[in-house]
Amino acid sequence: MRHFHTDFAPFDTLYIHMPFCSVRCDYCAFYTIAGASEKVKADYMVGLLEEIESIAKYTSDMRSIFLGGGTPSNFTENELTSLMNCLHKHLRIPKTCEFTLEANPQTITKEKLNILKSGGVNRYSLGVQTFHEHLRQKIGRIGKVDWVERSLAFFEENKLKNFNCDLIFAIPGQTMEEWQYDLERIISYAPKHISCYSLMIEEGTPLYKSGMQEGDPELSANMWLKAVELLEKQGYKHYEVSNFAKPGYECIHNRDIWYGHPFLGVGPAAHFFDGINRLANPADIQKWLQKAPYEIDEISKNARYKEIFMSGLRVKEGWDWGQFHKKFDPTFKERHLKVLNQLQADGLLKNTNESIFLTQEGMLMSNYVFREIL
Ligand code: SF4
Repeated sequence: MRHFHTDFAPFDTLYIHMPFCSVRCDYCAFYTIAGASEKVKADYMVGLLEEIESIAKYTSDMRSIFLGGGTPSNFTENELTSLMNCLHKHLRIPKTCEFTLEANPQTITKEKLNILKSGGVNRYSLGVQTFHEHLRQKIGRIGKVDWVERSLAFFEENKLKNFNCDLIFAIPGQTMEEWQYDLERIISYAPKHISCYSLMIEEGTPLYKSGMQEGDPELSANMWLKAVELLEKQGYKHYEVSNFAKPGYECIHNRDIWYGHPFLGVGPAAHFFDGINRLANPADIQKWLQKAPYEIDEISKNARYKEIFMSGLRVKEGWDWGQFHKKFDPTFKERHLKVLNQLQADGLLKNTNESIFLTQEGMLMSNYVFREIL
C-alpha cells in the first residue's frame, strides 16, 4: 500500500491526524471537519485503525506519537479505547515514548483521561489562545474563558504536569497589557511547555474573508520580545522561535521534525516524510476512506536539504555543521557562504566553524533570513 523510500524505515515517529471539531475557529487553516455526524466519525475510526495496522511493519520502538487535529479529545471514550488498543496491538510503545494528545478545554473528562493515561499518553497540548473574551470573539475561537480555566484546574486536580499551552498574540486590537496578562495567567498554571504564535490570517479562512488584516508588525515584534523576557525570567528555555519549555520538557516530536527526522503520518491530510520526499494523505475524508493515493511533494535533494536547514535553524541552537554535513548536504556551507556571511554581518545569525544559529534579531526576522537563503 505504501511506496515511500523504505531505506529510511523503520520509523519511530508517528503523527495521527484526527480532523474533527465541534465548530470551526475563524482563523483555522487546518483540515478539519466541524460538526461531523457520529457515522462519519465512526467510519473515520475504522479507516484509521486499518491505516495504523498497514504502517506498523515500517515502525520500530516508538520515540514519539502525536495525536493532533482537529480535536482528538472530541472522540468518545469507546473510540479512544479502540484507538489505544490498536496502537498497542500493532506498535511497540515503550514507556520512554513521548505520547502527546491535543485537547480542547471543553472536551476532556476524567474518564477520557484514564483511558488515555493507561494507553500511555503522557503529554497534553491545550489550545488556550487567550484569556480575553472579546479577543476570543474577534478571532472566532471556540469556547469561553471559563472553559479554559476549568480545564487548567482539571489538569491541576489530576496532577497532570507535562502539558503545553498554545497562546496567540498580535490579534488586531490586542494591547500589550492584555498580552502580558495572558502570559502571566498561563505562567500561574505552571505548564511545562508554552507555544506563542502570532495570529496568521491565512487565505480561505473566515478571518481572511472578513477582510481582517494582521496586527501592527512592530507591536507584534514587541509582544514576542515580551514573551521571551517574561518566560525566560520564569525558567522557560526559549528553544525555538515560537516555543518555550522548562528544562527537559522540549517537545521531542516537533524538535525531531524540525531537524529533518523521518516520520509517518496517518489520517486524512496527515503529512509524512520518508527522508527524501514529503507525502500527504488526501485532505478529503471521503477520498481518504476510499484509500486514494497520497500526494508526493517531490523536489530535488538539494532543495529538500535547504528546507531542512531552514527548519532546523528555527531551533535556538541551530545546526552543528558536522552533523548537518554528514546527515544531509556535505557542501552546503561552502555553497551558501556568501549569503551566510552577509546575514552574519547584519547581526541576524552566528556562523562559526562548528555551528550556525540565529541571533535574537534573526529569530525576529526569521522570514527575511529564510528568504535570503532561498
Ligand atoms: S480547535 Fe483547532 S483545529 Fe479545531 S477549528 Fe479551532 S483551530 Fe482549527
